[in-house]
Formats: sequence, C-alpha cells, structure tokens
Amino acid sequence: MTDLSGKAVLITGASRGIGAAAAREFASRGARVTMAARSLDPMIAIAREIEADGGEVQVVACDVAEYAHVQDAVDRTVRTYGSLDVMVNNAGLIDPIAPIADSDPAEWSRMFNVNATGTYHGIRAALPVMKAQGGGTILNISSGAATSPLEGWSHYCASKAAALMLTRCAHKEAGQTVCVIGLSPGTVATEMQVRIKDSGINPVSQLDWSAHIPPAWPAKALVWLCGPDGAEFAGGDVSLRDEDVRRRIGLIA
Ligand code: NAP
Repeated sequence: MTDLSGKAVLITGASRGIGAAAAREFASRGARVTMAARSLDPMIAIAREIEADGGEVQVVACDVAEYAHVQDAVDRTVRTYGSLDVMVNNAGLIDPIAPIADSDPAEWSRMFNVNATGTYHGIRAALPVMKAQGGGTILNISSGAATSPLEGWSHYCASKAAALMLTRCAHKEAGQTVCVIGLSPGTVATEMQVRIKDSGINPVSQLDWSAHIPPAWPAKALVWLCGPDGAEFAGGDVSLRDEDVRRRIGLIA
C-alpha cells in the first residue's frame, strides 16, 4: 500500500469518472487533495463524502484550457498544503465524435485545447514548483488512442498522442528531479464511454459495457505510480491493459 500521508495532490477533471475516483483513492491514502474541474457542485458533494471519511480536500473551479485557471489551482494547492507533490492531468473530452471530413474546425480545436494544451498547462504550472521543492510526480492520463488511429476520433487520437509526447519531453527536461508518467487506462466505465457508445462510430463504441474496468482501477494505478514502482515507467505510458501491471497493483490475482 503506497502511503501518501501529507502529500499534496492536484487532480484535474475531478468532478466525475476517473478523476473523482482518484480524489477518493488519494485521500484514502492520506494525501491532501485539490479537486479541479469546471463543475463545482459535483466536486463539493464528493469532497463532503471524502471529509466525512476523514480525508482532507479542497475544490477549485478550473477550465484546463485556460492557463490562468490551472496556475491558480496550483497556487491554491501550494498555499493551502505547502507543496505540490503530485499533479494528475486527467481532464479530458471525447466530444464531438465525427469523421474529419464532417468535423467542425472550431469544435475540433476547442477539444484539442482541453486534452492536449490542458495537459501542457498542468505540466507548465507544476514543474517550476516541483523543481524548486526538489521532487514530485506528474501523471498524465493517456489512452491507447495515443498510438492507435480510430475512425471519428482524429481530435482525440491527436490530442492523446500530444499528451504522450508531452510526457516524453517533460521527462527529458526534468526527469532527474520530477517523475513524469502517462497512464493508459484501457476502457473505463465512465460518462465518456456512454458518449462513445451513443456515437456508434468505430469498434470501441461496439464494446459490451462489461468490457470496461471500473474507475477505481485507474485510480489505484495512479496511487501505485506515486510509489517506488513508478520510476521504471518514467518518460512514457504504462498500460493498465497489461495483466502484469494489474497484478502488481493488486487488481487481479
Ligand atoms: P468523464 O467521466 O467524462 O470525466 C471527464 C472529466 O474531465 C470531468 O470531471 C470533466 O469535468 C473534466 N473536464 C472536461 N473538460 C474540462 C476542462 N475544460 N477543464 C477542466 N476539467 C474538464 O471521463 P473519464 O473517462 O473519467 O476521463 C478522464 C480521463 O481519462 C480523460 O483524459 C480521458 O481521455 C481518459 N481516458 C478515459 C478512458 C475511458 O474509457 N473512460 C479511456 C482512456 C483514457 P467538468 O465537465 O466538470 O469540467
């Protein structure tokens, strides 16, 4: 069990899905958590549950496409908890799913700005703090789509490929001090998979719901990557489809 007592963790996209599960998991391991997303109400509700279980948490309204919002979330984490030990760049969108020839250029860019530029914003804001304090971990939520093209997902595949390259570049620049890792979770039973199923485009939309793992699995993987096993994956993506990885985390026997 990775002990994160007193560690300050900032999680973007924490209002539902993987980010919300991660907030619960990190808090249960003793971390002091900042939850950041655009929707405050669901985060406040989750934060109350975490506090009722004895966890420490604060919520921040944040659109990761706006650098000032991300910088503010980092500043507030450092002000409240005294450090930023783990940055989880999780916020992401899949909509609008559309073939390139039918896609809306403005919508395509808007989404790319969240998934790709939003990840850059998180790394950009976290790195100076972590370098100054002498260490930290940055976890970027990647996807198999970073390396596999899929119909109707040009924006998503391109944005996750960008996130993977940001992981690799940040590791080159700061890997001596800061551990930067991408997590490719496989398919997870969240709102995003509901949107994918509704689209009916490409093989992922045809998957049976039972094929998806629960959000608690990537949440546990993120915590695990903050422990001693994380270092071997620095500078690249680790796949939660890998049965050996699942076993090492304790998700399967
Ligand atoms: P989800 O349930 O749809 O949650 C997405 C989260 O991102 C929400 O909390 C949403 O909150 C937040 N978000 C969206 N746009 C944002 C913005 N501009 N600024 C801040 N927060 C924003 O999806 P999920 O499945 O948990 O996805 C989490 C991450 O995992 C994403 O990066 C996704 O690409 C990745 N992923 C998911 C799967 C899967 O199968 N589910 C597979 C591979 C990778 P607000 O709307 O309140 O802002």
